[in-house]
Amino acid sequence: MTPLDGRCACGALAFRLSRPPLFVHACHCTRCQRETGGAFAHHLMIETAHLHLLQGEPHFARVPTDSGRRHWVVGCAGCQAVVWNAHGSRNPLIVYLRVGTLDAPATWPPRAHIFVRSKPAWMLLDPAVPQFSGAYDARRVWPAESVARHDLAQAARAAGRRAPASTAPVPAPRKRSAPTRTT
Ligand SMILES: [Zn+2]
Ligand SMILES: [Zn+2]
Repeated sequence: MTPLDGRCACGALAFRLSRPPLFVHACHCTRCQRETGGAFAHHLMIETAHLHLLQGEPHFARVPTDSGRRHWVVGCAGCQAVVWNAHGSRNPLIVYLRVGTLDAPATWPPRAHIFVRSKPAWMLLDPAVPQFSGAYDARRVWPAESVARHDLAQAARAAGRRAPASTAPVPAPRKRSAPTRTT
């Protein structure tokens, strides 16, 4: 067990992150409240390439979004616990993983609070942690090394798409200049 191991509520789905998160934020948007049944979603962002399943088969459930884009919540078919969100594709560049599924969630406090405009008034936030009324510009808020990691992952994926020897199914190319997801 490391701070980067985690599992669903019943333990059937277990995973390991092979790198520390790119960033950790708390999203107080109404979608995250609905999806989690709580006041906010506590998400870490990690390259999909660094999320490794140790056991179990993830179950994908498509949920609506305000933007109309595809969005999956992914978790355990047995206990129904959601472990991560996948935006746009089932295999996106970056997934949004629920920090509470880690074995050591206290290691990863939020470094920003977003969509605080829909935060309940009873929840008091640490004023030392940046707050945003809505979404943020990840390129300004994430540490420079995380932005660099994101760009590297994007370049690696683009190179993989161009590789003629690849027989893997290639998803439709999508332009994504910056990681500016809001959930
Ligand atoms: Zn489970
Ligand atoms: Zn949200």
